[in-house]
Amino acid sequence: MDYKKRMRQLIDEINQHNYNYYILDNPTISDAEYDKLLDELMLLEKQHNFVFDDSPSQRVGAEVLSNFKKEKHIVPLYSLDKRQSKEELQQWVNDVLLDYPNTKFSFEYKFDGLTITILYDKGVFKKAMTRGNGIVGEVVTNQVKTIKSIPLSIPYQNKVIVQGEAIMLKSELVKYNKNNDEQLKNVRNAAAGAIRNLNPQVTKSRNLDMYFYAVPYIEGKVLSSQQDVFNFLEDNKFKVHNFNKIVDNFGEINQLIDEVDNTKEKLDILIDGVVIKINDFKICQELGHTSRFPKFAMAYKFAPQELTSKVLDIKFQVGRTGKITPLAIIEPIFLSGATIQRATLNNYSDIRRKNIKINSYVFVRRSNEVIPEIIGLAKDTPESKDVIMPEICPSCGQKLKQDEIETFCTNYWGCPAQIQKRLVHFCSKDAMNIEGVSDKTVGAFCKNFNIQYPYQLYDLSQEDLIKLDKFKDKKTQNIYNNIQNSKSPTLDKFIYALGIKNIGKKTAKDLASYFKTFDKFQNATFDELMKVEEIAEIIAQGIVEYFEDKQNIEIIRQLFIRGISPQSINKNDSGIFNDLTFVLTGTLKSFTREQAGQEIEKRGGKISSSVSKKTSYVLAGESVGSKYDKAISLGIKILNEQDFINILKKNSFDL
Ligand code: AMP
Ligand code: ZN
Repeated sequence: MDYKKRMRQLIDEINQHNYNYYILDNPTISDAEYDKLLDELMLLEKQHNFVFDDSPSQRVGAEVLSNFKKEKHIVPLYSLDKRQSKEELQQWVNDVLLDYPNTKFSFEYKFDGLTITILYDKGVFKKAMTRGNGIVGEVVTNQVKTIKSIPLSIPYQNKVIVQGEAIMLKSELVKYNKNNDEQLKNVRNAAAGAIRNLNPQVTKSRNLDMYFYAVPYIEGKVLSSQQDVFNFLEDNKFKVHNFNKIVDNFGEINQLIDEVDNTKEKLDILIDGVVIKINDFKICQELGHTSRFPKFAMAYKFAPQELTSKVLDIKFQVGRTGKITPLAIIEPIFLSGATIQRATLNNYSDIRRKNIKINSYVFVRRSNEVIPEIIGLAKDTPESKDVIMPEICPSCGQKLKQDEIETFCTNYWGCPAQIQKRLVHFCSKDAMNIEGVSDKTVGAFCKNFNIQYPYQLYDLSQEDLIKLDKFKDKKTQNIYNNIQNSKSPTLDKFIYALGIKNIGKKTAKDLASYFKTFDKFQNATFDELMKVEEIAEIIAQGIVEYFEDKQNIEIIRQLFIRGISPQSINKNDSGIFNDLTFVLTGTLKSFTREQAGQEIEKRGGKISSSVSKKTSYVLAGESVGSKYDKAISLGIKILNEQDFINILKKNSFDL
């Protein structure tokens, strides 16, 4: 078959599967089958050096921009007028009904994200833009193309501009924060920041989604109502929220508003209100626009989820790094579906700025994705008293140190709260991964054995452990073994376990894969540290300071004396896989994929999930998949399991 014809077939098939998966939520093939189609398509594209505009391969791999191009919108994008109270909204609805008694209204969610328009021509995704000031917007085509639920080609062949809101699901934010050091605070900013990021890979990593609600421009067709718009959007495979309703009086609107207000916290999308639009476009045209708003649509914004409560007390907590954080204990309130009795304040300056006092009433807010916070003072009472910043550490009694914003206990190795939190961190899953050692267990260790430094964990004998409350034979044995068996962590886990300021899981990984041995990491200068991609100045500074501290050095030495030995990435300095990229396919007999991956990484190699011309070797087990075919066609070297075992044994490529 003609290769273009085959490519077209593949694209249509892949796009259909995309639609089934992202819009209909009803996938009809497995991920592996899907990958196979995609691999075949990408291979053809490479072989023939030809790519269709709407190829799914165009969702990724776009270049990082140096700035966004600004362009004029073909039709200006208006903002929405809003009403804050139901009475005012009712007034607007009734005024409309007075002039147009038979009109119907479209009732929609007001999505809280970033407005995007997309131009399609000849059925192909051509250009995406932000709203900007409504007249001029920024071109964000490659960023928006990474959003998988957006079709790259549509049945409609004439020029058309569709509009909607790019959003991040709340569940995606939670997932993202679990897997990344960077902590996103709310989905709106996360979505806007992702689109307005010059690197489309960043956009892609946030897994955005998009809901469509308007067609600001269309050639060759007349859409005569909002209902028509939704039908058109759906026919062309755009994601339209299934909540949309057509209603005809304020009673219905009123009821729906209450319904949405009561259920909105449970939605996975963030909405900041609802939009009510006149359905019939003839009427809309007659009403026209003010300079900023259409007169035929109205937003109703929900009162933010805020309540007042009384501050009963302010406690000061000591963190792992000695930072003191105030925690407000408040009279319990029920807010956005949960009872709240505590709320955070960032630091003492925050208390001062917001004028918070004990026994005063304060405003507490809980947007779904943020922990409850105190936004400000509501009113004082006669019993109100100033919050006094303690001068000494609530845990160890040492004098606290205040910098411009934060307050610290600097008694790093003598402060019980810090010691305990640091040990909990040291044992945690992503650090030394000592199973069974809970916060409570650490507490018992500190109390009964006076443990201060992590290496002392390794001195605990079974006779010691069995003395602890609730430690029977089996538990004692298990915990003892788990501690003793934790002595060979991977390098990144060991770095993370040390609890150096600002080093999260991901940073630890970046550092480990750059320096490869603990020794090199420990001896790195500030300048060398700054060479690691994504290592910011304060992180590098924190590392340098950490290793300047003699006590830290001594603790590491004591750990090493006890046999703790982080696995260097290229053990025995073999580094035989340095700079090589491996792809694994099929089933191996002597290793799980994860183990094989570790063996490769230990020796300096990298693992990639897909075959490209950058792949150095494909390690193929039994019943290989499409990656194998792709490797063959690209002429990439294949290793079978036995080859691989021989290389590991000999520590060289001489098979
Ligand atoms: P605001 O930014 O508060 O002035 O509200 C106007 C914005 O609401 C528009 O620019 C859209 O980005 C957004 N919006 C969210 N959902 C809708 C919707 N269903 N219909 C129209 N606009 C919407
Ligand atoms: Zn202290």
